Amino acid sequence: MEFAEFAARAAEIEAESADLAVVSLLSDLFRDADDDLSTVARFVQGRVFPAWDSTTLDIGPRLCHEAIARAAGPNVSADDVEDRLADRGEIGAVAASYDFGGQRGLAAFGAGGQDGLTVAEVDSELRALAAASGSGSEETKLKTLYGLFNRTDPDEARFLARLVLSEMRIGVGEGTVRDAIAEAFLVAPEDAAAIRDDDVDTETETAARERRDEAIATVARALQVSNDYGMVAEVTRDEGESGLSEVRLEVGRPVQAMLAQAGTAADALDEWETAAVETKFDGARVQVHRDEAGDVSLFSRNMEDVTNALPEIVEFVEDAVDEPAILDGEVVAMDDDGEPLPFQEILRRFRRKHDVGRMREEVRVELRAFDCLHAAGDDLLTEPLTTRHDRLATVLGPDSDAVSDLLLSDCPDEVAAYESEALEAGHEGIMLKNPDAAYSPGDRGKNWLKRKPDVETLDLVVTGAEWGEGRRAKFLGTFLLSARVDDESGDDEFETIGKVATGITDEELVELTELLEPEIERESGKEVDIRPSVVFEVGYEEIQASPTYSSGYALRFPRFISVREDKTAETADSLERIERLAESQ
Ligand code: ATP
Repeated sequence: MEFAEFAARAAEIEAESADLAVVSLLSDLFRDADDDLSTVARFVQGRVFPAWDSTTLDIGPRLCHEAIARAAGPNVSADDVEDRLADRGEIGAVAASYDFGGQRGLAAFGAGGQDGLTVAEVDSELRALAAASGSGSEETKLKTLYGLFNRTDPDEARFLARLVLSEMRIGVGEGTVRDAIAEAFLVAPEDAAAIRDDDVDTETETAARERRDEAIATVARALQVSNDYGMVAEVTRDEGESGLSEVRLEVGRPVQAMLAQAGTAADALDEWETAAVETKFDGARVQVHRDEAGDVSLFSRNMEDVTNALPEIVEFVEDAVDEPAILDGEVVAMDDDGEPLPFQEILRRFRRKHDVGRMREEVRVELRAFDCLHAAGDDLLTEPLTTRHDRLATVLGPDSDAVSDLLLSDCPDEVAAYESEALEAGHEGIMLKNPDAAYSPGDRGKNWLKRKPDVETLDLVVTGAEWGEGRRAKFLGTFLLSARVDDESGDDEFETIGKVATGITDEELVELTELLEPEIERESGKEVDIRPSVVFEVGYEEIQASPTYSSGYALRFPRFISVREDKTAETADSLERIERLAESQ
């Protein structure tokens, strides 16, 4: 598919606001994508790599602005691009406002559309760019990007710029892609029409909806186990439902973690009568994969590969496990007496790319596994928790300290006693789980409840900052924080809720500046706008209603605790959670 065609279809989808119509346009695009189907299914979400693959393009706004400036001509600088961005508000519009030559330029030389960019070419150039590393890689990235922009017309430039910054903004979220895959290749056209047509009788429409929902559920299951929209789109088209039912977990390919809601023992026992109770370890989530050959890989909750940062966990698993397996758990840190250390200590280990050996001496980490998703060729996602936990004990050995203790109880006093014991031992609370529930990847449903008696902290996205004064002028000092606004369409919005400047050491200021500087989108005087990507954990005394910030709330006495390296802007706390917390104060 020509990239120009992709851009035209993306523009059409962007202009459509009705959900069903978006799904329909997207399913048409998928049907027409032929050999490029898997690439197109990722591009519409602003992704070059599958969701399970932690490879990134590693292109910050600065680099992208520079490439646009180069393609725009010798009189244009990155600062000019940023000025236009301040005016137009979004990088696609800025890229489209320059004349890079593109298709028209080539046509003028008699090359016709022949030399226009194709979707496959954009994909392979961006993949090559992602592979560039080491000294000179910035320049290589810049050259590749510049080369691509140079060949675009304004419509293509709009979507190329958004794609490289992973912000497609066409109103297509994961749910939309899932529905469109089903509609394109599984749902009968007459059913799709019956759902859309207002004049169809209710009975026909209900039956059509049921069949469509079943098709969507089949696609959803394959997506849950694979996290690969491109592959699932192709399997749906080429092999239909039978192919989808064959999509299995793959050792070495991370799965989204199942998440928990806040809840109490009373909630749990009312709902399930018997609850599975576990210690809530104050660590960082880790998914352990051990393959047939004995190789171990570890993934963070972002599905990022953290194998190299945690050699002692790798060694432990190599020793303890002798069959292929996928385990879910927490990495906890210990002091010399075996007492749990705070969570921030572990994140320091997760982040570590150099000096792992030295860090290993300073912060000792251990695995606490609480779930088993796959063992010896069996996918266990749909098995009840109790069965999965039994398998976990077989995989790691029934007496292993690495296996969580699971108490099955229908007695409130027993659960309360378990909780006090956990807190006394220095843990942050307990988890209450439905013993019969399946493992639902990526889902924050009612089957897992977390109970933390202490004051909650918030995980907020940094969307702005201010340069410091005097000796701190080279460092970003005050950080503007925002909450995520849940949006089904997948284009997250962020609303501001406060600024944080306390709790940050001089050393941290240097680190935070290094982390955030490449994400700067705009500067005006001392103030900068920052692309939402970095998440801070912050403490506070109270959440107050306030007109000062766009969320309608402000934090009283916010203080910086840590960077949540294991979270992305999309998994930061939502405004909805803040509203709930504010109400419950
Ligand atoms: P969330 O993970 O829910 O988005 P969060 O990262 O701030 O939020 P918490 O609210 O503290 O974490 O609690 C949920 C997390 O607790 C889980 O994601 C997991 O990493 C961790 N956890 C610790 N012990 C367990 C356990 N026994 N079972 C499941 N999760 C556990």
